[in-house]
Amino acid sequence: MKVLLADEFGFCFGVERAVEMVEEALAEGDTVRTLGPLIHNEQEMQRLGTHGVSTISEPVQIKRGETAVIRAHGVTPQVQRELEEKASKVVDATCPFVTRVQKLAARAAAQDRHVVVVGNPDHPEMIGVHGYAPGHAFVVKDASEIENLPRLRNPLVVSQTTIKLQNFLDAAEAVKLKTDDEVQIVNTICSATRDRQDAARALAGEVDAFYIIGGRHSSNSRKLLTVCKEQCEKSFLIETEDEINPQDLIGAETVGVTAGASTPNWLIEKVTRHLKEIGEKLKSEAVLN
Ligand code: SF4
Repeated sequence: MKVLLADEFGFCFGVERAVEMVEEALAEGDTVRTLGPLIHNEQEMQRLGTHGVSTISEPVQIKRGETAVIRAHGVTPQVQRELEEKASKVVDATCPFVTRVQKLAARAAAQDRHVVVVGNPDHPEMIGVHGYAPGHAFVVKDASEIENLPRLRNPLVVSQTTIKLQNFLDAAEAVKLKTDDEVQIVNTICSATRDRQDAARALAGEVDAFYIIGGRHSSNSRKLLTVCKEQCEKSFLIETEDEINPQDLIGAETVGVTAGASTPNWLIEKVTRHLKEIGEKLKSEAVLN
């Protein structure tokens, strides 16, 4: 049984960078506390936990002497200030792609322009971006919500980094009907999610079974499952190798593997190793029969 990895899988640039920054802080002997879980992967959070990394939900929980980490989603300027006042050190692991959206929003607001951000208003990234353009920004899920907005002044349209392109383009078109001014449209979608989906789709059409390694609560992992299922009925979202049922692999000649943007390499290696062991076992059983 061949085990094939998709061309793009696992940690995206921003998550890898955030984990590295936490590891650097640990190496300096810091007591590290992240505001919200650093990544949506329980196993990696447990690993970091064994090195003393803990999570807080409010800046007020940080104490002098501790290092506060801002995760890849970023935070509002106000939250950043609160952390800086309380912590001995702040490690800002905001993904540079998110920083770009924050800066664009802040600049437009400073010019007294409206900012329309297409994304999920409850997502931490959107809460952070909104905080960079207070009184000027509207976060909308899709084009249907644009009609509820007031007339817009020289609007800038940007996007959450992980949304679908068509959703963004439709919303940007709808914004044009809400203003007499010129509309500045900047596509700030990050390609990491799409690249992983494209690679998974390409491989899923060629294999007998597919395993997506990722957190059950990770939306990009769940999307990968949907994409793979379209091509390969036997597609499974698993968090660890223990969830693989060898019965699902009987008769499989090739198995595909991919992983969500928050899945660490050590976990991916563990799963692929286990799949190969199952393959060997099934082969020897078949010979005996
Ligand atoms: S998905 Fe893209 S924007 Fe989000 S953290 Fe990863 S690299 Fe950054």
